[in-house]
Amino acid sequence: MGIFLKNESLGRIRLWGIYLWVLPASTCGAILALPLLVLGGNVAWFDGVWEVCAPRSIARLSHRFGAITFGHVVIARDAAQMAALREHERVHVRQYARWGILFFPLYLGSSCWQVLRGRRFYRDNHFEREAYGDDPAAR
Ligand SMILES: [Zn+2]
Repeated sequence: MGIFLKNESLGRIRLWGIYLWVLPASTCGAILALPLLVLGGNVAWFDGVWEVCAPRSIARLSHRFGAITFGHVVIARDAAQMAALREHERVHVRQYARWGILFFPLYLGSSCWQVLRGRRFYRDNHFEREAYGDDPAAR
């Protein structure tokens, strides 16, 4: 019992450490989400992540945009996109947990590296390939 409580406490400390490590990126997400919420968007706490859906007036303007993750904040065009892309965006949440604020330059660097190799900026990005579940052997 004592060991169980210790492990539970360590797990909680580790979890809060991850939230702290990712906080700068989550703060960027919160800053970007704030105007959407002021304009009538929705926010929900789901499985340890703030999920923000844009208001309809904004969602109508951006059919190409699905969702984007900043730390523990995911911003989606609408609830349907949030549901459809939740698993993909959760991979990005885990990537932020691993890299913290370093995720920003690493993501950009990966995209630039792919372009220099004649590949696609977004879809060939290392982090996107992982989130799309591409075969690691094919990378
Ligand atoms: Zn992605």
